[in-house]
Amino acid sequence: MEIKKKDLDQYSNKIYDAIIIGGGAGGLSAGIYLQRFCLSSLIIDKGKARSFWMQELHNYLGLPSDTPGRNLLKQGKQQYEEVNGHLLNGYVEEITEEDEHFLVKVKVGRQNTIETTFKAKYIVAASGIIDHLPPLEDMKNVFDYAGYNLHVCMVCDGYEMVGKKCGFIAGSEASIREMIWNLSWFTPHITIFTHGLFEMSPELKEILAENNFSVVETPIKQFLGHDHQMSGIELIDGTIIKVETGLISMGSKYHNTYLENFDLERKGGNLITDKMCRTSHPRIFAIGDLKVGLNQVVIAAGDGALSATQIWRDLCRKSHHKQPL
Ligand SMILES: Cc1cc2nc3c(=O)[nH]c(=O)nc-3n(C[C@H](O)[C@H](O)[C@H](O)COP(=O)(O)OP(=O)(O)OC[C@H]3O[C@@H](n4cnc5c(N)ncnc54)[C@H](O)[C@@H]3O)c2cc1C
Repeated sequence: MEIKKKDLDQYSNKIYDAIIIGGGAGGLSAGIYLQRFCLSSLIIDKGKARSFWMQELHNYLGLPSDTPGRNLLKQGKQQYEEVNGHLLNGYVEEITEEDEHFLVKVKVGRQNTIETTFKAKYIVAASGIIDHLPPLEDMKNVFDYAGYNLHVCMVCDGYEMVGKKCGFIAGSEASIREMIWNLSWFTPHITIFTHGLFEMSPELKEILAENNFSVVETPIKQFLGHDHQMSGIELIDGTIIKVETGLISMGSKYHNTYLENFDLERKGGNLITDKMCRTSHPRIFAIGDLKVGLNQVVIAAGDGALSATQIWRDLCRKSHHKQPL
């Protein structure tokens, strides 16, 4: 059931077993499992999940290989509602802890915004990350191709790039060092674009030249092509470089500011968890792209199952302690 803005007061005093921040692949999976353990859950999601930008999910067992992420989300939401889960379209600003409960402060509505607070015993942080894209004057031009044949994830789409002329748009020297050899597993035809964002060291330039990788340091003006298929990259000096595919590696923004009141163990922007996705706080779980691991839909969905099962086990154990055998 979707909670409407006008009904917020009815739910703000309820203590949910778990509140899930983020309704992407991970959050929806956690919600479905929690409800099926006969626990109460609320998913708060601001929308536009990373899965939403995924135009074709090629590698998920059992789904047609052109499944758009938005279909997966629509179906997942429907499944969650069928088991009576609560959904709210809102932005989680802050979480605090009080008497064994979490207070989740949420902003609801872009216009006439209402601020409200929900309560829960457990938190599942499923708010993911979002990729930094090349900053062009016309960002619509980037969105026309990103997620189609201008990819952001080599694990997801390396296979789509096999043997093709690939434009690799890097955000830093570190990203070139980290990615170039793995990318060359799929294709040897790589042109690296720095978009004029950083100076490359002479040592790296030499290694790249020795291995026949071209480097372009002039900023990009626009991506060329049609029907969401990029076929070239135009530089600000008018030069056009033909490509058949592309990979962006410019880092990510981590959606975790609402957890700032907790001194959770992290690795960079990612949260460190145990094998059941529990963070260093015993009642905060982190799943999907936000935790250290592999950023894949199948992992996010699996993490949802793990975190919900552990929450159920915790609550089950607590309730048994009340009635010793
Ligand atoms: C273009 C593209 C192609 C991809 N292709 C593939 C592929 O082929 N195969 C594959 O396995 N993976 C692919 N991925 C990766 C995959 O999309 C992610 O691994 C997966 O979506 C992670 O799920 P998640 O639930 O962790 O996060 P998300 O799906 O990103 O969901 C997080 C949700 O939390 C919300 N949120 C964030 N902050 C807040 C807040 N403060 N309050 C409320 N809500 C909040 C976000 O808006 C979002 O809706 C691709 C990703 C992209 C971008």
